[in-house]
Amino acid sequence: MSAVSLNNIVKKFGGFTAVHRMSMDIPDGSFVTLLGPSGCGKTTTLRMIAGLIDPSEGDITIKGQRINDVPIHRRNLGLVFQNYALFPHKTIAENVAFGLKYRDIPKADAEKKVRDALELVQLPHVSDRYPKQLSGGQQQRIALARAIVIEPDVLLLDEPLSALDANLREDMRVELKRIQHQIGITTVFVTHDQSEALAMSDRIVVMSNGRVEQIGTPQEVYNTPASEFVSRFLGISNILPATCQAVNGQELSLELPYFGKINVPREKAPNLSQAGPAQLVIRAEKLLLAEKSAPADDRIALDGKVEAVDYQGQAARYFVRVGDQQLQVINMIDQHPFEEGSDVSVRFRPRDCAALPGAAS
Ligand code: ATP
Repeated sequence: MSAVSLNNIVKKFGGFTAVHRMSMDIPDGSFVTLLGPSGCGKTTTLRMIAGLIDPSEGDITIKGQRINDVPIHRRNLGLVFQNYALFPHKTIAENVAFGLKYRDIPKADAEKKVRDALELVQLPHVSDRYPKQLSGGQQQRIALARAIVIEPDVLLLDEPLSALDANLREDMRVELKRIQHQIGITTVFVTHDQSEALAMSDRIVVMSNGRVEQIGTPQEVYNTPASEFVSRFLGISNILPATCQAVNGQELSLELPYFGKINVPREKAPNLSQAGPAQLVIRAEKLLLAEKSAPADDRIALDGKVEAVDYQGQAARYFVRVGDQQLQVINMIDQHPFEEGSDVSVRFRPRDCAALPGAAS
């Protein structure tokens, strides 16, 4: 059974529709991320699940029960927001115990639950301190402990890592995922950070302008984007105008100016089923630059010229002219990066490409 289901949810603020007919099922025990740019409706969706705002239309169910009219304190949810909102004048143990206060739990049991929650976030020794005596990362863990201590059915996390500095944020990603795994709690996570979503999620819901663009595993949304928006939002993509000439068995035959004919496996183009205008998607890291004189291999090879190089340490991002297109290429650097002005061979495999229907926007 799904832990959480949204069925045709709409949210209007006056005349503005922030969420358009959104439907999704969140499997029990899974880590699902709502991912999209600022203003796409992620927080609004999470707040409707939480009960902080009401949907204008549609049903929300938790464990099969419609909860539209159930008040927030009776939904049994754990909430963590970007600002940890710990009570400054309460100790850490009192902060964590706060959610248990109204639950009629014997004192000794409550104390054990608080100890267990602090163990889980690996901060058992700070229970007598006050929030200001902890670092930002530690405070965020306490906020998590406070959300988890009530043993919620679902954990709702709204950009919980965004106030932390870059290194700490990466450590906390791993930590959060460990905790989620350990207790197997269904988690809905909101972020605009694609690498966070790819690293942490079982499933990603990519949103744009209040609509779901695609729902899939990190690999699915990255390797087989369902729309131009998804391919541009996740990673760096080259999106080239093409014509789908034929759909034959397991392959699509695309024709591109300068590139010629490219046959893409059908599973890399789930939304393209007939001849007509199309787009070929090639991820920047799926293109390989070689010396122009390098021997041929099993890849398609096209002549190109490096127009700019963005040196990134281990890797370089190249802007390469191929015909009338400028392609972006990301390659690891073994010795010296290709220099601006170099003539190169640009190589790729059709099976590493994806295809979309329709002309470029
Ligand atoms: P961010 O990452 O910036 O938080 P988001 O994807 O979470 O963005 P939401 O906060 O859900 O986006 O907002 C979606 C849209 O709804 C935005 O255009 C926002 O301005 C609008 N909106 C949100 N809350 C209200 C409100 N209470 N009244 C009017 N408009 C609102």
